[in-house]
Amino acid sequence: MDVLRLTCISIASVALLTPSFADDNLAAIQYLTADAYLDVSNGKRINNPAIIIADNRIRDIGQQGELAIPAGANVIHLEGQTLLPGLMDMHVHLTGDASDNFLEAQNYSIPRQTVKAVKNAETTLMAGFTTVRNLGADGYSVIATRDGIDADEIPGPRIWAAGHSVSITGGHCDDNFSAPEKKSLAGGVADGPWQVRAKVRENIKYGANTIKICATGGVFSKGTKVGVQQFSEEELKAAADEAHLRGLVIAAHAHGTSGIKAAIRAGIDSIEHCSFMDKEAIALAVKHGTYLSCDIYNTEYTLAYGAANGVPEANINKEKQVSQAQRDSFRAAVKAGAKMVFGSDAAIYPHGDNGKQFSRMVTFGMTPLQAIQAATINSADLLKQTDIGQIKPGYLADIIAVKGDPIAHIELLENVSFIMKDGVIYKQ
Ligand SMILES: [Zn+2]
Repeated sequence: MDVLRLTCISIASVALLTPSFADDNLAAIQYLTADAYLDVSNGKRINNPAIIIADNRIRDIGQQGELAIPAGANVIHLEGQTLLPGLMDMHVHLTGDASDNFLEAQNYSIPRQTVKAVKNAETTLMAGFTTVRNLGADGYSVIATRDGIDADEIPGPRIWAAGHSVSITGGHCDDNFSAPEKKSLAGGVADGPWQVRAKVRENIKYGANTIKICATGGVFSKGTKVGVQQFSEEELKAAADEAHLRGLVIAAHAHGTSGIKAAIRAGIDSIEHCSFMDKEAIALAVKHGTYLSCDIYNTEYTLAYGAANGVPEANINKEKQVSQAQRDSFRAAVKAGAKMVFGSDAAIYPHGDNGKQFSRMVTFGMTPLQAIQAATINSADLLKQTDIGQIKPGYLADIIAVKGDPIAHIELLENVSFIMKDGVIYKQ
């Protein structure tokens, strides 16, 4: 265990260590102050706050000078900084790196992908994202990464991991890049309602704590049309029922209008990408309370660097089809009052740049507070968690800080200056 602890210690200087990673004799109580904190539930900026953290939870919040410093507490003052809850990204793929050659990366082994996930989990945490949902990976690689993080063996965010993305044969989440005689089939392929249910059960058997299904074609697959529905509504309903029966939240990858509508009617909890949404689709999402997760930043990266990274022309052309449509759908959905979460599809652009999406969410129609809420309270609500996403007594101590006021300067979220997860400080 000592060796493992040393590995973790190396990511932060010893001075930053707090009890769960360090010597058991160190104070388990921390007293954290800053210039202000942002109450993400109402947008209020509260000056001169003081927060008491006991082990991994927030015990009390008050004002500096009023809230007494507990005896033996480790006192931390963040001069000129604003505290916020740890950020949450509801759509990442920790196993991939955007800068790797695209076609070579299709052929990475599961152990290779797991090494990528371990590296990218740390990068994501160090960008201030203390919770992520990994929507699909080969061979339970991210489930193993999540378990390593939960066991304090490696640093990383809290992870909700989907296991294999469920896909029709030849669909967006199947392996279509190999020659036919290789008979390569992705681990999540299922056809028909009962095969779909069996695939959900298999994912859960091997540790998935969320489910992902590919309802339509996609940008980065071979031989799929981006706007075209793949699973039938009956199959989507089977997946949603099975996930809900087991107490899990289910996400549907869906670009095209008919697939989006079918997924919403089927009871899926969040629609990923949401590129082509007509009025009826947005109204359906509002009516059903379905969360929308629109990855509106990564198109900039793909169009700028995709060709250099070996993304085939056919896929870049598909990206061009969705990019403006997706921004328009995002704007219309925000205006209609649809429920929105922050989902970036990290891996399509470099991990750690997740925060760049905030300013785009503001450019395309959200207020800065709405963009921050998408990555905090709304994401916690989607995951049905009642102790993350806010700075509140009883909540887990996932707290970040930025140098200034993020409501006035949303791009500050691209440079997080302080990171605490579970009461452990990773950056100060
Ligand atoms: Zn994705």
